[in-house]
Order: sequence, then C-alpha cells, then structure tokens
Amino acid sequence: MGEPLTVDHEALAVRTLGPCRVTSPLLPLLSARPTTQHYIDEGDKVLFDDTLAMVSSRKVPIEELPSFEAAGPRRKIYFDPAKTRVGIVTCGGLCPGLNNVIRGVVTELTTHYGVTRIFGFRNGYQGFIARYGHDVVDLTPQTVATIGEDGGTILGTSRGQQDPEEIVDCLSRMNINILFVIGGDGTLRGAGEIARVANERGEKIAVVGIPKTIDNDIPFIDQSFGFQTAFAKASESIVAAHAEATSAPGGLGLVRLMGRHSGFIACYASLAKSDADVVLIPEIPFTLDGEGGLLNYLRRRIEETGHALVVVAEGAGQELSAAENGGQSTGTDASGNRKLHDVGVFLSRRITDYFASVGVEMNLKYIDPSYVIRSVPANPYDSVYTIRLAHAAVHAAMAGRTEMVVGRWRRRFIHIPLPLAISHRNQVDPSGDLWMSVLEATGQPPRFQ
Ligand code: ATP
Ligand code: MG
Repeated sequence: MGEPLTVDHEALAVRTLGPCRVTSPLLPLLSARPTTQHYIDEGDKVLFDDTLAMVSSRKVPIEELPSFEAAGPRRKIYFDPAKTRVGIVTCGGLCPGLNNVIRGVVTELTTHYGVTRIFGFRNGYQGFIARYGHDVVDLTPQTVATIGEDGGTILGTSRGQQDPEEIVDCLSRMNINILFVIGGDGTLRGAGEIARVANERGEKIAVVGIPKTIDNDIPFIDQSFGFQTAFAKASESIVAAHAEATSAPGGLGLVRLMGRHSGFIACYASLAKSDADVVLIPEIPFTLDGEGGLLNYLRRRIEETGHALVVVAEGAGQELSAAENGGQSTGTDASGNRKLHDVGVFLSRRITDYFASVGVEMNLKYIDPSYVIRSVPANPYDSVYTIRLAHAAVHAAMAGRTEMVVGRWRRRFIHIPLPLAISHRNQVDPSGDLWMSVLEATGQPPRFQ
C-alpha cells in the first residue's frame, strides 16, 4: 500500500454523475415529520480534524478545512427510481454482516425508493463474466428477509483478477445504473477500475462500496462492520486458552488470531478478557532470544505465576518465521495477496524447544480459531451498524455519487472518495492509546528485544 494521501479539502470531494433533478420519493415520508433534520444539505460536512491543534495548524479559512460529505437522504436525487436497475456483489474473504448489508440495501431500495430491479451477482467479480456460468439472482425483500441470521454471504464470493472491461460490458448489457460492491481493499481497487472504465465509456453507472474488513484495516472509518462480532468470537478462544493454561503445571496458552497487517482483533480480544500476558501484533516486531526476548519473558511468567498466555496476530513475527525457512517465499493467493508463514506453528515449536533446552516444565496448549471468527452471524451491534451503512450507501448511490465508499467518522455516516479508502492501511499505532491500553492490561514490556 502507498503512503497516505495528503488529506485536504480537495481529496475529500466525492465524484458525482451529474446534477440531482429528481425529487426524492422519500420526501412525503420525511415531511410528515415535524422537522427536516433527516435530509442532508449540501453544506452538511463532517470535520476531518478532531482537535483544535489540528484545525489551527491548517491555517486555512473554515470553508477550506478538510471535511467529509455527510451521508443520508437528499431532497433531490440523480436516478429516477422507476428506471433504476441495481447490481450487488460481495468479494474477498468472509466477514460477519455481509448478509445484513445485502438485506439492508435491498430493503431500502425497494421499500423507500421503489426500486424493484435488483440483481445479485454470484461469486464475486466472477459473477459478471459469462464463461464462469454463474446465474444472476433477483433480490427482493422476500428473498433477503431472514438472511441476516446467517453468517457468510448468500451471493458467494471469490478471489482472482477479472477484466474490468468485461465487467462493464456486463453492466451495460444489463442496463445496470448502480453497482454496490461489498469487499476489502482488493475489491475496492477493482471497484475503482470498474468506475474508471465506465467513466471512460461515458456510462452513467454509480459505483458505491461498503468496505468489508474483519481486520479493521481500512482507513477513515472509526470501525469496520463485523469487527466487533469477530473480536467477541475471538475472545472465546482466549477464555479457553486461559482455562487450559491455568489447569496444567507450567501451562502456556497460545492463541493465534486473524490480523494480516493490523493487530486490532488481537488487541481488542485481549482487552475484552484481561487474561493475556503477551499480545503480539504485526505492527510491532519482536525478538525471541536473549535476556529481553519473548522466550525468556515467558519462562519468568511461568516460574512466577505457574502459567502464561500469548495472543498472536497471524501477521506478527513474519520476518522471524521467514528467516527460519531460509527466506523462502510462501507464494500468493488467487488475488495476488502474499500468503503468510504460520506464526502459531512457528511459535509453538520455538517455545517448546526453548523450555526443553532450559529444563523447565511447560505444557503448551495451542488454539487457532481460524475461520470460526469470520463466518459467524453479525452480533446485534454489527446488525445495526450494517443496516445503517447499507442505508447510507443507497442514499449516496441514488444521489448519483460514485467512486466512493460509505463509512463512519466521529459517529457520523459519511462518504469517502474511493482513492482515499485504498490509499493506505489502518494500523495499530505503536505510540497510540490503544496499544498503551494493551501494555497496561498485559503488563508486557513495550518491546521484546
Ligand atoms: P480481503 O482481503 O478482506 O479478504 P479483498 O477484497 O482485499 O478482501 P481480494 O481477494 O484481495 O480480497 O480481492 C477481491 C477481488 O478484487 C478479486 O476478484 C481480486 O482479483 C480483485 N482485485 C484485487 N486487487 C485488485 C486490483 N489492484 N485491481 C483490480 N481488482 C483487484
Ligand atoms: Mg485484502
């Protein structure tokens, strides 16, 4: 991923397909209310900066302070609902809440805007390419009524590159006006390509993303959907590992959790259950050997308290396990993402060897909940969050916004230009307050070195 873009006034501007001239069908519904606070005016902007120091250091007039466009219904919209045809696709790995997003989009489009032609494309971007032979499914409020109760995605998903020209061919052939894309960083890059090709061809297709990232690694979003469900599920493994570790002489629990590049799940799951003695995340390198290394620390914990519990994010310590394998490459998946060395297996072996070499009794219990945390249904918080994100996405698309994703920033739903959403990764700040909380909860040293 590249460097963060400079976030200024212009970088936050969202592309639109054209002026909004159609009166929103939501108007009668909304005007029955005593106030008009549910409309979003063009001037409703959400400040990017959250401290006085940040604002004053910009030295620009108030109207040039960087601010996000607020999400929500507009009085005038771009698309005529009676003629609007919509596509929905889910790509990349599973995440709790995918079905809830699909359901929210479909019900908002039909019940409030009166859009009735909504098509689900199956198995990610493959669904647009005829040679894969996937059927296109009609989505109605009836077909999606109860899907939020299940994990996974009713549309299926896939990895692997597809030609954006062919995807736009399919969208034109089916007269699709709006495409909702639910997926991670790779998916959103793909969405950017689709929007670019459509724009070059002069096709008025709105491409709106609902970012999916179980690792919470997409920037400019307070927290991604499914994250809370995922770390709650992950914390169950910490409880289990703690019980195992405290029930055996020299018990050492080791839990490997998701988090390829960002350790948010490991941090939050560990804070949810204050049993972890050590949390290891990709953002903070660590050393195994030597006085200040992890192994010596674990031995001291076991000698002092009789047990120890380590939580490791899957992307942590990659350089250590790579070095053990002579720097051998692990290859890539179908989408070109680098496969990771298994840090859990690596640590299990190194910890076992170390305790044998120093002659201290140690009983290792290794738990890897793996896909269990991402395939569960959304919890009540994420169910609420996903439906609200879905509503925001529908309002944005009907108002002709394109090449953007919806998010939440400082508790407001907002529009984020797509280039910004894929400009860099959201990561745990080693000098930020989240990591400080983890250090305080575990008592581990700031660095193992
Ligand atoms: P996650 O990593 O959270 O599972 P993701 O969306 O990043 O989700 P990927 O498998 O990387 O998952 O990508 C999903 C889809 O997006 C694939 O079809 C992939 O080919 C496509 N894609 C990935 N990167 C790009 C890119 N740079 N340009 C166009 N399409 C891309
Ligand atoms: Mg990805």
